[in-house]
Amino acid sequence: MSLPREERLKALGLWPVWRLREAGVGSATPLTEAIGTREAQSPGPLISQPAAQPTATPPPARPSSPAAVVGHATTAGMDWDALRQAVSDCQACELAKSRIKPVFGVGDPNAEWLIIGEAPGADEDRQGEPFVGQAGKLLDAMLAAIGLRRGDNVYIANILKSRPPGNRDPKSDEVSACLPYLERQIDLIRPRLILVLGRIAAQNLLRTDTAISRLRGQVHEYRGIPLVVTYHPAYLLRSLADKAKSWEDLCLARDTLAAVKKSS
Ligand code: URA
Repeated sequence: MSLPREERLKALGLWPVWRLREAGVGSATPLTEAIGTREAQSPGPLISQPAAQPTATPPPARPSSPAAVVGHATTAGMDWDALRQAVSDCQACELAKSRIKPVFGVGDPNAEWLIIGEAPGADEDRQGEPFVGQAGKLLDAMLAAIGLRRGDNVYIANILKSRPPGNRDPKSDEVSACLPYLERQIDLIRPRLILVLGRIAAQNLLRTDTAISRLRGQVHEYRGIPLVVTYHPAYLLRSLADKAKSWEDLCLARDTLAAVKKSS
């Protein structure tokens, strides 16, 4: 007698999966029946230092201090509207020449959850909103799996506000120029948990070159805020096997926030 599909996938380490709905039906939907009943992973110690040791390669570039200097401007003291305008006007790196729209971020500026991705892609560049393409649909499904919805207690932003041409990796000078905007967004939102998607965002925020496989699965700290790393949804679209690990990371993030709230 063969095992049910879910059992087979679990045995292979491939469960849970998130599926995208048919085009036109709306946003992606998780297999919430299955996901919702799965036991959450223990969050372990609330804040742990990364187990991984940095290797000899220098970490990705970022400003040497959170002084938040962008070109000749400073983001220090900017309110939300001023910051949005500054991003809109920004010419601090060459991406300003090729972008269609800057992508400031989307959601609730008072959210407890801050989700940070890498950089806008082609769809995001056209629409001026983060994670609106296929990866965004999967992100919505991942959020739904832990009871979250874009815009509802969630803010979504990227390390870069402008699209790198051809979706190449961000260059270090682009990250250095753009990060002060995100840092100011973090100061203004004051999220209670940061969920970081993918290697580039994780390495730049945590100032490390440690592999994502070693950064995920634990709770880091960013300026006193618990931070959990997981795989980028664009990567998960290609790598079914790591969806199960990402589900563990989402549970870790959810449980960490619950523990933070309980202890405050
Ligand atoms: N990938 C990202 O990292 N961010 C987006 O906004 C879209 C795709």
